[in-house]
Amino acid sequence: MRKTEMKYMLGLKMRAFPNHKQEAIIKKNTDTARFIYNQLLANSYTDSAIHRNKLDKHYPIPEEYWRYNSKGNVIAKSKKRSTGLDRITADKYPWLADKDLDSLMPYNTQINYQAAWSLFRKVNHAGHPKFKRKSAPKQSYSTNCQYVGLKDNKPSLFNGTVRFIDKKHLKLPKLGNLKVVLSRSLPEGEEIRITKATISHLSSGEYFISLLIKSNDALAETYSKTSSEVGYDLNVKNFLMDTTGHEEPNPKYYQKIKNKLAREQRKLSRRARRAKKEKRKLWQSKNYQKQKIKVAKLHRRIFNQRHSFLDQLSTAYIKNHDLVVGENLKSKNLLKDHALAMSISDVGWRTFIGMLQYKAPLHGKTFVLVNPAYTTQTCYDCKFVMGTNGTKKLTLDQREWDCPNCGKHHVRDYNAAKNILAKGHQSLKVANNEYVFCR
Ligand SMILES: [Zn+2]
Repeated sequence: MRKTEMKYMLGLKMRAFPNHKQEAIIKKNTDTARFIYNQLLANSYTDSAIHRNKLDKHYPIPEEYWRYNSKGNVIAKSKKRSTGLDRITADKYPWLADKDLDSLMPYNTQINYQAAWSLFRKVNHAGHPKFKRKSAPKQSYSTNCQYVGLKDNKPSLFNGTVRFIDKKHLKLPKLGNLKVVLSRSLPEGEEIRITKATISHLSSGEYFISLLIKSNDALAETYSKTSSEVGYDLNVKNFLMDTTGHEEPNPKYYQKIKNKLAREQRKLSRRARRAKKEKRKLWQSKNYQKQKIKVAKLHRRIFNQRHSFLDQLSTAYIKNHDLVVGENLKSKNLLKDHALAMSISDVGWRTFIGMLQYKAPLHGKTFVLVNPAYTTQTCYDCKFVMGTNGTKKLTLDQREWDCPNCGKHHVRDYNAAKNILAKGHQSLKVANNEYVFCR
């Protein structure tokens, strides 16, 4: 069966422990992936008139592509130029022929690069693709798993070019057997394909491998039906409030560790200053490097705590309810309000939504996102909308209110959650005990 026909997808992420030789190969590949990405982006700029002067200096257009106008001046614009990866060849950059480089890495880098542009075009607020920095906290590259010469055997986790040797070792192209630690058991099914493997190195020193796995068998346990439905409202006061009346408080991990982080960061810049004064390069300064890892580990700790909180909460919702309805976010708009910005970037609502979207189909449940417009301002009981008929809109600090039309007393977020659940119902119908999307 072709991988595009496979119904279920699962991400499998694991910690990896490469040896020194493997670390060097990973570095070569991540460095090259970053170079290719930046080169693709730079070429896209030199094709357009914007930024041309600045970028021509760093990424000059090869002379064979120069064109001249009637006055004999160079105009760096031509449709004859080769595009994409064709421009980034080993003829031009001989080190791209290094035998340690994964042959599928450039192709995957190009896909990531194209995805960044398509996100920019489709999502209103998504930023324009940016150059990747050598100093970024995460460096990664991707490769694919290929199944060749299987004959009668079906693709599995154990017979592709990326494959498990046993539960503790993963074999990867160019890297060979890599020691890994799985945090869950391997999925089982008749035919399972590993489609993509991403190898990443974090500034905290950790290595991770993410495998994208596809199958036609459900790869995870199907949770039993509960005949329960829930809607939730994300808000600034709490993390969320749902239609059962449950309020989930905001776990402010960043706030809790803020002072310690600031202290360690000051120490880091002190060491950077000292190295500069003594005319040492930062990479030669051992104390600076040690402190840099310490700061990276603190950031990592906040990330881990937040991730496990969101993971547990989203699993609980999917497990306990057959239908979960949430509101779509416009957090970029909200982030304009600086007072809210800190707490919103801290709570990770977008990650939470992503987890629900991913887990619902995996465990046989339904998750719906609705447009948040008017969900707060509408009275659930009589559908009266605040701000109409001469009434004033509810402000952010009005946690409770009385409907001027029907007199019902509302807890703001509880009322919003009920409206969100009702909105979810509008886009669904029930057939054979399953929720089906109308459109
Ligand atoms: Zn009312």
